[in-house]
Amino acid sequence: MEKTLILIKPDAVQRELVGTVISRFERKGFTIAGLKMIHMDGNLAKEHYSHLVEKSFYPGLEEFMTHQPIVAMVIEGKDAVEVVRKMVGKTNAREADPGTIRGDYSLSVSKNTIHASDSKETAEKEVKRFFKPEEIFSYKKSSYYYSEDEL
Ligand code: UDP
Ligand code: MG
Repeated sequence: MEKTLILIKPDAVQRELVGTVISRFERKGFTIAGLKMIHMDGNLAKEHYSHLVEKSFYPGLEEFMTHQPIVAMVIEGKDAVEVVRKMVGKTNAREADPGTIRGDYSLSVSKNTIHASDSKETAEKEVKRFFKPEEIFSYKKSSYYYSEDEL
C-alpha cells in the first residue's frame, strides 16, 4: 500500500496540535506505519528543502524547522500521497480551504503546521530520508477500510 511522509512542524508542536494532526489521519482511515520525534539539523533541512535553498526565505525556513523538535510520521493507505495532500491544503494557509489541516489550524505561509510529500517519487525518497527500514511497521487492521476490489 502507498506510503507518504508527514512532518508535524514546530508551530504545531508548540501549539499542542500534534495529537489533533495525527487524529485527522487516523480518523480518515490511514495506517500509521512509522512515528517519532526528531530534531532536524541544517544538513537534513538543506536536503529536504533542496528545491528551495536558493530562495530568499530559505534561511528563515531552516531556522524555523531546526529550532525545536518535530514529529515525523509515515502513513499508509490507498493513494496516500494524493489524498494526504488534499487533506493538508495549499502552502499558504490563508488560502487553504477550511476543512483542510492548514486551512483549519494556520494563518501562515511558513508556519503552516505540516509537511506532506508532493508526489509518489518524492514520497519514496522522503520516507527513506527520515526513517530506517526497521522503523517502518507493517500490520493488519480490520477490513472496514476498503472493499475487496480496492485492495
Ligand atoms: N515556504 C515559505 N515561504 C514561501 C514558500 C514556502 O516559508 O514563500 C515554506 C513553507 O513552510 C512550505 C515549505 O517552505 O511548507 C515548502 O515549500 P513548498 O513549496 O514545497 O510547499 P508545500 O509542499 O509545503 O506545500
Ligand atoms: Mg513541498
